[in-house]
Amino acid sequence: MYIYNTLSRKKQEIKTINDGEVRMYSCGPTVYSYAHIGNFRTYIFMDLLRRVLVYEGYKIVGVMNITDVGHLLSDGDTGEDKMEKSAREQKKSPFEIAEFYSKAFFDDLKKLNIDLPELVVKATDHIDEMIEYVKTLVEKGYAYEIDDGIYFDIEKFGEYGRLSGLSLDDQIAGARVEVNSQKRHPADFALWKKAEKEHIMQWPSPWGQGYPGWHIECSAMSIKYLGEKFDIHTGGVDHIPVHHENEIAQNKAKTGKDVVNYWVHSEFLLVNGGKMSKKLKNNYTITDLEARGYTALDYRFFCLNAHYRKKLNFTFEGLDGAKTALSRLKKSVAEHKAADVCGDKEKIAARIAEFEEAVTDDLNIPLALGALFKLLKEKKSKDVYAAAVKMDSVFGLGLDKTDGAPSAETDAARSAADIPDKIKALSDLRLQAKRDKDFAKADEIRREIEALGFRIADTKDGASITRSV
Ligand code: AMP
Ligand code: ZN
Repeated sequence: MYIYNTLSRKKQEIKTINDGEVRMYSCGPTVYSYAHIGNFRTYIFMDLLRRVLVYEGYKIVGVMNITDVGHLLSDGDTGEDKMEKSAREQKKSPFEIAEFYSKAFFDDLKKLNIDLPELVVKATDHIDEMIEYVKTLVEKGYAYEIDDGIYFDIEKFGEYGRLSGLSLDDQIAGARVEVNSQKRHPADFALWKKAEKEHIMQWPSPWGQGYPGWHIECSAMSIKYLGEKFDIHTGGVDHIPVHHENEIAQNKAKTGKDVVNYWVHSEFLLVNGGKMSKKLKNNYTITDLEARGYTALDYRFFCLNAHYRKKLNFTFEGLDGAKTALSRLKKSVAEHKAADVCGDKEKIAARIAEFEEAVTDDLNIPLALGALFKLLKEKKSKDVYAAAVKMDSVFGLGLDKTDGAPSAETDAARSAADIPDKIKALSDLRLQAKRDKDFAKADEIRREIEALGFRIADTKDGASITRSV
């Protein structure tokens, strides 16, 4: 299997450290808010990579972190901690915020058919490991203490910038690092921050009360579970210039080794040509898509149509196309399932070979989908169905879950089950407003439901909801 390694800037054959086993770390979410569909593009990519490796017969030891402390508003170690800010705004504790948004994240992963890595670990459960890590860096002379924390000395390290290929000056410009007169170099990054009294999440350390920097979290947790040499590290392309560059620097300083063999990054989901991000408020969540009548798998299919190293522009027209194509795909698979005849084994084997060649060539999923489409054009047969299900172990679209061309009755039942909880809750609120004779409020809620793509009709038992498209 070949994969593009950001570090070597080449497609490379994957040669694992242990025979038949891949040890892989994936940067997980910062759980201060709902993850958006841009974030999920990166996790869909992680899932596809895992599925192809399993298809190829590897056992996977996968680790994903949950960042529940230490990710500041700016990558340049300034600004409030995202968790503390969200907690303050929502009048909850950062721990409650983390629990709520972690659960929402896992719920969305499930809807997207993203299999969880074998180990999902929280930063706040690994503070001791992070302190030990920082202590070692201080002892080895790669870290120094100033008034607000412990910083990594990138000039002492000397190899900074290998992953991004950026010079130190470019890094500084890109990261908009703010000047801190005590830092030895403007791009030195925080390993440990000293906490102000009002900072809720703080732990005792050799340097007083404080909390870890975001980058040390991933290094400490990956090395704890995967060792000082492991195979693959994944994340979005935004992590290349700061977060992963910092991981490489502190790992090498601590262990004397290049800890990770393959650095693999997926490209952004864009909206109107710009990055989808919470900061820019141009993001949609899975619930937003559901409220407009799409399923999480429609979105998964939308992502599968672009190579992970290409930017992908999100539009609702594009998502409509994906929804229609996925439904046709499922119908076709169901027809093959229903056919009680054998297929042309040679032609089917040729399609599977095409599929395998595509997925093992730097995860060329769009090309692999092409092989599936060609396969489904063959004469209707159970063998084609079996081959499609085999391919779907990588695509993860639930193609075997289809139960035939839907009848009018199953369509109705399915659409009733398809009404998102948010719409049902709005409908209940509207009925309550009517019972309270607050008709202005009832009308306002009806308009909100309609704006989300649903129609509501009063019945003698309450209200019936249907999709307007
Ligand atoms: P965060 O929770 O902000 O740390 O982001 C979680 C993951 O989502 C990281 O791997 C980011 O690289 C990735 N990510 C953030 N925005 C986008 C986007 N617009 N498209 C694809 N991936 C993204
Ligand atoms: Zn990370």
